[in-house]
Amino acid sequence: MGYELMGTTEKACPCGKSLIIESRYMDDWNRTKSDYEMVCETCRSEYTHQEGQWVKLVDWQKKAVAVQRYNTKRLSVEKLAAEELADEWYQHFAHIKTKKGFYNAMAEDTGAGLTISRFNKEVAGKSMEETIKLLFGEMLRSWGPEVVAEKISSKNEKIIAESESLKKLFAEKRAAEIEWYKMLRR
Ligand SMILES: [Zn+2]
Repeated sequence: MGYELMGTTEKACPCGKSLIIESRYMDDWNRTKSDYEMVCETCRSEYTHQEGQWVKLVDWQKKAVAVQRYNTKRLSVEKLAAEELADEWYQHFAHIKTKKGFYNAMAEDTGAGLTISRFNKEVAGKSMEETIKLLFGEMLRSWGPEVVAEKISSKNEKIIAESESLKKLFAEKRAAEIEWYKMLRR
């Protein structure tokens, strides 16, 4: 049980004055993992080990902060949308009388990623009203509140404003991720 130390490798740290030690472990199922220790105190405050590489802490933070900002905002907009848009969502589809019709309308409106078989499984035994309401939560999670708001043409100003700032944060997150991956490949 547990991991056993297989060996260690030392290499120079980025500033060249000290070392990085990699310790490699293996368990009884031949699964391996490595621990990294930055021995150099100077480099320890400037570098972090992420996604298999030592990278500058500032580069990592640039991406991490952008991701965190988007995720936090998205959660709060999802919560707001769940409170503010559920009725609009329901009204938007309320005229539809069959589950098949609702599935088609939703697929048209939102390009729903849900397959018909999964849809049928999810809504089995549910009333039309429950079916429509159930899929609201599903779409909020898979498409995000800004897309849901757009697709049902919400006139809710709070949601429109929040969706705009969410889109902006998404663009910033994408840009930070692109920069990050470019940096990793260098
Ligand atoms: Zn160093």
